[in-house]
Amino acid sequence: MMSAYDPNNIFAKILRGEIPSHKIYEDARTLAFLDIMPRSPGHTLVVPKVEATNLLDIALDDLTYLMSVVRKLAPEIVATLGAEGFMLQQFNGAGAGQTVFHLHMHIVPRWASLPLKP
Ligand code: ADP
Repeated sequence: MMSAYDPNNIFAKILRGEIPSHKIYEDARTLAFLDIMPRSPGHTLVVPKVEATNLLDIALDDLTYLMSVVRKLAPEIVATLGAEGFMLQQFNGAGAGQTVFHLHMHIVPRWASLPLKP
């Protein structure tokens, strides 16, 4: 689970501007962009700019900052879309379903009447 950071993972390429993304927020330490396969409308990924594969692989200060951005963006996304709430999701390790090995927080807007896509 604590594999070495691969600088050629897809989010590292997005951070370097080598492949496009639909950015919704950026600051000196984080980037937020829409998930390419959204589980609900507005499904957003928030990533740190530091190299971190997962939750165990990031300095606490960087994690705290990342979560502060999640907490700022989530209610803004909910309000903008008229969602009824949001789900926060985060996978650690291939066995847990992680497919991109750069730490990311999924913000998934939710509506009671709208089932999640797989
Ligand atoms: P899972 O693939 O099981 O959701 P992860 O937590 O590793 O596991 O999530 C990776 C997420 O990255 C997926 O939701 C996927 O749709 C998204 N994704 C992959 N490539 C891109 C891309 N180029 N732009 C935006 N989102 C992407």
